[in-house]
Amino acid sequence: MEFSQYNVNALMYITPRPELVFTEGSGMWLTDHKGKRYLDYLQGWAVNCLGHCPPAIQQALVAQSKKLLNPSPAFYNEPMIELADLLTKNSCYDRVFFANSGAEANEGAIKLARKWGQLHKNGAFEIITFGHGFHGRTLATMSASGKPGWDTIFAPQVSGFPKAELNDIVSVENLINENTVAIMLEPVQGEGGVLPASREFMQALRALTKQHKLLLIVDEVQSGMGRTGELFGYQLSGIEPDIMTLAKGIGGGVPLGALLCREEVACFVPGDQGGTYNGNPLITAVGVAVLKELLQPGFLASVKEKSDYLSQALWDISEEFGLQGERGEGLLRALRLGSDIGGAIVEAARNLEPAGLLLNSPRPDLLRFMPALNVSIDEIDQMISMLRTVLQQVKK
Ligand SMILES: *Cc1c(COP(=O)(O)O)cnc(C)c1O
Repeated sequence: MEFSQYNVNALMYITPRPELVFTEGSGMWLTDHKGKRYLDYLQGWAVNCLGHCPPAIQQALVAQSKKLLNPSPAFYNEPMIELADLLTKNSCYDRVFFANSGAEANEGAIKLARKWGQLHKNGAFEIITFGHGFHGRTLATMSASGKPGWDTIFAPQVSGFPKAELNDIVSVENLINENTVAIMLEPVQGEGGVLPASREFMQALRALTKQHKLLLIVDEVQSGMGRTGELFGYQLSGIEPDIMTLAKGIGGGVPLGALLCREEVACFVPGDQGGTYNGNPLITAVGVAVLKELLQPGFLASVKEKSDYLSQALWDISEEFGLQGERGEGLLRALRLGSDIGGAIVEAARNLEPAGLLLNSPRPDLLRFMPALNVSIDEIDQMISMLRTVLQQVKK
């Protein structure tokens, strides 16, 4: 099939896309409409934690689709109960509400914090968020995000999201007033360029929120579900937040999100929260399958091994080409290029023959790596060798 045979103009234009149509995926590899293969270090933006079309997800989808698709959110179903039980048993949270995306889970977190503020803090509603943070594309989550320019695109913003700076506790302290109800952040800023919050900063935020009776909300849409080598990113710093959101990895490629909180914070009453597809058994059955894979003995240890290996390989290639090193947590890593060649590398890597390499450049001087959590050492070596070829071209 030729690209020109597809009528792509029936789709709303929201982003420039290369003239490729992906037709198949397996593990770390994608195949396009011409049969060309690509080693995929995007994995749906850190979504496909088990790679493309993993057997565990296929089996869950087939089995559940034969049993029950949609009894309605007004009733319990088995996968929804099982997934909530597994999530609460393996985290510091007690209650779960399922959503369909990260933005929707975060909207729920914002509503929950505001509700808690009405009940326990004289109507306090401000949620301190962070410069370069990313929480989604609904109006409230765009307002909570710290992406430059996002404050004006769809003005007026949803108010009540003052911005502090990551890893700067004084910038947070300075924003606290009688209207403050919560502090919300990503344990590792993903879209912002793979910037980890330091252990000390997370611990200082926990102390500060306790001191001022504020809620601590972690957006683990990208950092959760094994991505950092811990099941959840907050566990890296040994703290226990009050509210957490998940999406991306928890569905492994299907649209699933979750809002989790501790019992004391679970203050929604009937009418406050809901949604037609929330807790849908077809999708939560996939969540159960994904989480069970991550909980297999040795799985998270292998993520840590692979992440050490990838980190070292990136340091080596950085040295070889005079770049500026790498950073990240687990299998969410970034290579600092030292100049604005990110876009050129992404394009040259995709155009490699006979097989391409899919990379992401969240900032022009940065490459982001978010492989499947079960990526093999060999697939890391292959990526590095392809990246070397590209760097030789681009740095010439
Ligand atoms: C991707 C992302 C979101 C938004 O999730 P969607 O499913 O695209 O709505 C929110 N927060 C973080 C940290 C993310 O990485």
